[in-house]
Amino acid sequence: MAQTPKRKNQAHITAPNAIENLEVDVLIIGSGPVGCTFARKFVAADRSVYMIDAGAMLSKRPGEHLKNSFLYQRDVNPFASVIRGHLHYLSVPTNNQPALTLDPVAYKVDRDRYTGFVRNNQNPDQNPNKNLDGAAASYAVGGMGTHWTCACPRLHSSERTNIISDDQWAALYDEAEGLLNVSPRRGISTHPFEHSIRHNVIREILQKEYNELQGHAAPHIHGTTRLGDKNDGTSVVDPYSRVWGFDNLYLGGNGLIPVGSASNPTLTSVALAIRSADTIIHGRQSQTDSHLVGTASS
Ligand SMILES: Cc1cc2nc3c(=O)[nH]c(=O)nc-3n(C[C@H](O)[C@H](O)[C@H](O)COP(=O)(O)OP(=O)(O)OC[C@H]3O[C@@H](n4cnc5c(N)ncnc54)[C@H](O)[C@@H]3O)c2cc1C
Repeated sequence: MAQTPKRKNQAHITAPNAIENLEVDVLIIGSGPVGCTFARKFVAADRSVYMIDAGAMLSKRPGEHLKNSFLYQRDVNPFASVIRGHLHYLSVPTNNQPALTLDPVAYKVDRDRYTGFVRNNQNPDQNPNKNLDGAAASYAVGGMGTHWTCACPRLHSSERTNIISDDQWAALYDEAEGLLNVSPRRGISTHPFEHSIRHNVIREILQKEYNELQGHAAPHIHGTTRLGDKNDGTSVVDPYSRVWGFDNLYLGGNGLIPVGSASNPTLTSVALAIRSADTIIHGRQSQTDSHLVGTASS
């Protein structure tokens, strides 16, 4: 996607079809919000960057949020179909509904009695109460940033890993909010929904019920490539997102967040990417000049 001029001591990357050799400091796989955070940090630090993405370019301006188009600004409801069209299942959902030939209200199944039966071609060994409903992701230049909802809450201290101190989290969140242009944030008081009756009514009701409530809750998948402070088999990357046992291989994305949270994860993943990029740029971790950053996991 993007390439800046060559520098000394760079990685030599052979394109799959061997058309050309690329010389860059950092190869970033995945151009979603996290890959873009790495790219932004490295380019600002005068590193050459090459980003690749398995998905198509869906807008003239790379990675644009598709909801910005005039059509959806006028009427946001049809945008739900765009999201559904872009999401690919990554796993088989644990849908526990039997195949219905009758109207659902006329048909009930005793699930305890019929455990083990294949239901709607789903895996009968998956317990719907314990397993995820099914993961989905989209492939596009800009990643899921092409259609996400842009809610950017900070994780509550009870949801965050304490491998990173509260002061460090605060600084990382400040920078992440700046990169994602979150409002309101430090120094910016405007709220995008301050004139929305619907948002204000719902927020007031919820805040009355739950005084501590800042943002809102939303289930997201975390922890597939968990960050940890020890290489004891319970984590994949170290506290700076470097894969245990590798010198110059880093991961980014929601998979790093070690604990489940009720808050949306992207701001936190961007914060972790900032921390990781800073570490690489200031040379505290790797011994080599070239780096590979994978952000294509969720
Ligand atoms: C409808 C919807 C609404 C959402 N709303 C919110 C929200 O309000 N707040 C929030 O915090 N989060 C929200 N999310 C989640 C948010 O979109 C993700 O947390 C965020 O996009 C993750 O960023 P990422 O860069 O790690 O991954 P992604 O955005 O998934 O980007 C990964 C990229 O990697 C590419 N890729 C995958 N495999 C390969 C490969 N093998 N080779 C090369 N490229 C590859 C993909 O094409 C993709 O472009 C929402 C998600 C959806 C689907």
